[in-house]
Amino acid sequence: MKKFYILAILALFSCKDAGGKIIEVEQISQGIVYQGYSGVTPTKPEETEFYEPVPPVVHPSINKGAPSDAVILFNNNSLNEWVSLKNPEKPADWIINPDSSFTVKNKAGDIRTKEEFGNVQLHLEWKSPAEIQGEKQSRANSGVFLQSRYEVQILDNNNNDTYVNGQVGSIYKQQIPLAMASLPSGEWNSYDIIYHTPEFDKRGNKTKSATLTLLHNGILIQDHEEIKGTTEYIGWPKNEAHGKAPIILQDHGDNSRVSFRNIWVREIK
Ligand code: MG
Repeated sequence: MKKFYILAILALFSCKDAGGKIIEVEQISQGIVYQGYSGVTPTKPEETEFYEPVPPVVHPSINKGAPSDAVILFNNNSLNEWVSLKNPEKPADWIINPDSSFTVKNKAGDIRTKEEFGNVQLHLEWKSPAEIQGEKQSRANSGVFLQSRYEVQILDNNNNDTYVNGQVGSIYKQQIPLAMASLPSGEWNSYDIIYHTPEFDKRGNKTKSATLTLLHNGILIQDHEEIKGTTEYIGWPKNEAHGKAPIILQDHGDNSRVSFRNIWVREIK
C-alpha cells in the first residue's frame, strides 16, 4: 500500500497527458496495474485492452470433482499420496472406506503428503461421525496443517462449545472464525483454503506473515487472515524459517474418527 501511495504521488507530480493536464491518481493506479501503460491518458478503448499473457485453460471438474490442473491427494480408494508423519518410510495407516473416503485410525498418528507445497488453493471434504462421542476438544477433532505447521481446526462443534479460537474453522489458538458453518454431524463438509506462505530473509527472520482464507461449505469464515506463527497447543506462535513442506492431517487421538474425501490442491505460482 505504501509503495502504491509513493508511486501515485510521484505520478501526480510528474505525469501530464498530451494536453498538459495532470493525470488523476485513479488513472495512474490503473496504469500501475496494466502492462504497457504509457502514463498518457487513454483516449481510445483499445488503449486499455490487452491480449497477453493469456490465462491457461483449467477445466473446473474433470477428474472426479477436481480441476484439471490440480494435484489429486485423494479421490478414490488409495492413500498413495500420504505417509505416516512419524515414520515417513511407512504408508499412511488410516482406514479406507468403501465409499471413496478414509477415516482417522485411532492412535495411528498424523499423516502427511509425500509432496511438499508452498502457496496453495486446497480443497478437502470431511465429516464427523453421526454417532456422538466425547465433548469439547475430544469430539471428532482433526485438523489440516499447511506447511506442516499451521493448523486449520476440524471439530464437531454441533452443540459442543469449546474455546472459540479452537473451534471448527479456527486458525488454531490464533484466529476465531467469522461464523460456525458446520453441517449436522454425519454430513460432509467442505473446506476451500487459499494459503500464502510466510517469507523469511537470509538470516531467517520473518519478513512477511502467512495468510489464510477459508470457505467452509462455501461460507467465508477466514478472510485473508494473518497467521502469526506455528499453531501451538501450549505457548506462543513460533516463526522459524522454512520452505515448502507437506500438508498434514491430524489424528487427535481421542474420538477423532473424522473422515475425508475428495482432497486436491492447486499450487499458486
Ligand atoms: Mg485439531
